[in-house]
Amino acid sequence: MRQLLTILLAVQAAAAPPSSLEVLEVRPSFYVITGAGANIGVQLGEDGVVVVDAGSFAAAPDVLAAIRRLSPKPIRYVIDTGPDADHVGGNEPLAKAGEKLFGGSFLGGGTPNAVDLLAPVLSAEGVLRHMKSSPTGGWPTEVFHYSRKAMYLNGEAIEVLHQPAAHTDSDVFAFFRRSDVVVAGDVLDTRQFPVIDVDRGGSIQGEIAALNRLAELAVPSVPVVTREAGTIVVPGHGHLCDQYDVIDYRDMVTIVRDRVRDLMKAGRSIAEVKAAQPAKGYMGRYGNAGGAWTTDRFIEAVYRSLAKEKP
Ligand SMILES: [Zn+2]
Repeated sequence: MRQLLTILLAVQAAAAPPSSLEVLEVRPSFYVITGAGANIGVQLGEDGVVVVDAGSFAAAPDVLAAIRRLSPKPIRYVIDTGPDADHVGGNEPLAKAGEKLFGGSFLGGGTPNAVDLLAPVLSAEGVLRHMKSSPTGGWPTEVFHYSRKAMYLNGEAIEVLHQPAAHTDSDVFAFFRRSDVVVAGDVLDTRQFPVIDVDRGGSIQGEIAALNRLAELAVPSVPVVTREAGTIVVPGHGHLCDQYDVIDYRDMVTIVRDRVRDLMKAGRSIAEVKAAQPAKGYMGRYGNAGGAWTTDRFIEAVYRSLAKEKP
């Protein structure tokens, strides 16, 4: 898949947009925009534009310009995969640049409601709750609290699948069934160990359950492995993945979880667990000594979520 990405990057470089964003055509009507905070998925068609993750607030003008170059049609939906600022920061500018499909008031000939002049922002219910605790606007306008929200737009089924208690309590996957692309949000971050936000309802068990679900949704390029086809999985951050990448990541996270659990069963304290380096073997690829998400913070989050399970 990385080889494919390199080719895509080379092809796209010829028509590079005048900003730091990269725009990759991953399927005939599906694009991924990188460099705007989180990875952004863009589905195009007759109905308009469906955007998965809005990117950061600062990047929104460039993201909008990039989308305009892909399609003259309005943005019809913004789907948030989670509550973090680099995913929801652009909600408001993107929704304002869009327009609700079949805004009800127009049909009745009345004055349009303000909300009909915006594209809906769809998320799991928890995203709204987390955003309201630090109000900056751009809140989701359409939330759901069940496991699956389905839509049919631009000639394909779109399933928005809630993953309870993974990175947070309000992560979703957006699965575009005909394009065969899953936008996975922060459950998958190929740059580092997954961010488990225990304070916002995340847990290591839910993270592994979500990665298992993602591996089930994706189909690998078999039996013709040389085609580099198969389901494309777009992580919250990092390079595009296929099913094998998801399985590798899931196995890595599971191994670290098992090591931490064994140490806890042996009565080790959090300091002793960290000192035992349960992420050994993966620190070179996924570890961070500094920055926002260090290896120590990951181990602490695993420890805290396992400690919660004890009777
Ligand atoms: Zn993120």
